[in-house]
Amino acid sequence: MSILIYAESSEGKFKKVALELASYAKKVADSMGTSVTAVTINAGNTEELSKYGVSKVLNVSNDKLNNFNAKAYADVIKQAAEKESAKVIVLSSTTDSKYLSPLVAVNLNAGFASNVVALPESTSPFQVKRTAFSNKAFNVTEISTDVKVIGLAKNSFGLVEDSVSLAEEVFSPSLNDVDFGVKVENVEKVTGKVTIADAEIVVSAGRGMKGPENWGMIEELASVLGAATACSKPVSDIGWRPHSEHVGQTGKPVASNLYIAVGISGAIQHIAGINASKVKVVINTDAEAPFFKVADYGIVGDAFDVVPKLIEKLKTF
Ligand code: FAD
Repeated sequence: MSILIYAESSEGKFKKVALELASYAKKVADSMGTSVTAVTINAGNTEELSKYGVSKVLNVSNDKLNNFNAKAYADVIKQAAEKESAKVIVLSSTTDSKYLSPLVAVNLNAGFASNVVALPESTSPFQVKRTAFSNKAFNVTEISTDVKVIGLAKNSFGLVEDSVSLAEEVFSPSLNDVDFGVKVENVEKVTGKVTIADAEIVVSAGRGMKGPENWGMIEELASVLGAATACSKPVSDIGWRPHSEHVGQTGKPVASNLYIAVGISGAIQHIAGINASKVKVVINTDAEAPFFKVADYGIVGDAFDVVPKLIEKLKTF
């Protein structure tokens, strides 16, 4: 009986969340006297996982799985869990894993807890701490089913190196043709930009920027920091920025290490989606803007004055 993780990869490289899952699962496994197995799908060099405590990898390699397919992937994870007699399965909270986790839980007749942010409070009974109400509250949830599925919130645990020796195995689960009735034929990727999902730092801007012609400084600040760019809802609604950059309750969630908000008022719907970010910096002319109440650092000032100075200073580091 081991703990199983699904180690997500992209273009043959493990996503950071895969290493975070491994770190988390290793600690849970230690407390339960067991080990961590990872199932990978068309991943490259799996050695990296062993640095974070994974002692066995089930490598699935199949061209039919080149593009994400929730039903087929969930079936693969189910078969891996059954093969390993895994009682705890840990997935991430990426968009893909948010699709997968409930399917995996249904497939395995398991209880599922999403948005888990810490190691289990107890493993017998099995109780986990989760966020609720857009990260405004926590609750402790007990999963009483024999098999348990956990969705770990991104960036909630971090990476913890704990090298172990690795056993690799080729795993060839059966695939169900019905799962491929609808399939993605082609994926066009935006290249050269850090995506909001993967970003450690996000530079986000709102209506305070006055117009799309002023986004050059936001992009430059993001580029200097190696950050992704994001925006408030009205900014994408009026077409200043693409909808893919809209963050908040009705947009993409952000759980970055650093979130810089420029000219964003901090409406409750915006905060709901970015609250999980570790450090929040706000630049706003209005000292009464609600964003300052949740900010770790705030600059009361004009973005057109502050941002260029910030870029200039950061370039000297
Ligand atoms: P504004 O509210 O207009 O704020 C602009 C800010 O810029 C002000 O605080 C102002 O002081 C500041 N400013 C002006 N000039 C400067 C300057 N030169 N330098 C620095 N600061 C300056 N919003 C989201 O963002 N995400 C969501 O997911 C979302 N979902 C929603 C869902 C629902 C159901 C509803 C009703 C609303 C939702 N909203 C969402 C909208 C939200 O309520 C706010 O209207 C929106 O976030 C405001 O965007 P903003 O801060 O860019 O603009």
